[in-house]
Amino acid sequence: MADRRPYIAGNWKMNKTGFEAEDFVFALLPQISGADRAEVVICAPFTTIANVIDATRGSRIKGAAQNMHEAESGAFTGEISAGMLRDLDVRAVVLGHSERRQYFAETDETLREKLPVALANDLEPIFCVGETEAEREANETEAVLTRQVEIGLADVPADRLGNVVIAYEPVWAIGTGKVATTEIAQQACALIRRLVAKIDADAAERVRILYGGSMKPDNAAELLAQPDIDGGLIGGASLVADDFAKLVAAGDAA
Ligand code: PEP
Repeated sequence: MADRRPYIAGNWKMNKTGFEAEDFVFALLPQISGADRAEVVICAPFTTIANVIDATRGSRIKGAAQNMHEAESGAFTGEISAGMLRDLDVRAVVLGHSERRQYFAETDETLREKLPVALANDLEPIFCVGETEAEREANETEAVLTRQVEIGLADVPADRLGNVVIAYEPVWAIGTGKVATTEIAQQACALIRRLVAKIDADAAERVRILYGGSMKPDNAAELLAQPDIDGGLIGGASLVADDFAKLVAAGDAA
């Protein structure tokens, strides 16, 4: 099996001012400087990305955004393009988070457009998929994940597929404290890897698949020990530097 580098990404959502972001980074850096096995990513609000990038320069932390528009430029008031993110030295971007799908009408078809644009701008897409509680109860998990993955990846050039990071985030586990069992998380991540393998077997070995949904310092090691879980996308526990440092340590040990 390929040795995939663990990937620990914090999603701050709509939290932290520039000052708070810098404070967080200065508290985190000394706690994570002893190792560098895991890649560490902070997905900050647009207004604090520059603070994160300046405060983390020369460190193992990558600054990331939480969304971007698919067009290069134009009449899209309030939106931010991939080129604008690159201009700030942003290196990754969350695409298709369930909160964007639920509250901001993000669709599979929009994501199909966004993924290749991110890659063409050297932004690593952290592409989120996951079923709702109602879909899981109706036994639709496999169909939902298949649809989301197949449409979202449809226009990704074959030679860039291995650069996509995919986050399996069951919607019922996000911000609820209800973490998926390791069995549920592993099964879903294995399904996602099989779906990528249908497009390109080599890329499927390289692609990092994350679990997201109430990941915390006390459940991370067990989740990260699963064969198809290569990291975590972490919301609540990424807001406190001491907690996020423990998650990074779990990634370093995985
Ligand atoms: C997320 O925002 O992607 C997330 C997984 O949040 P939480 O860790 O708070 O469930």
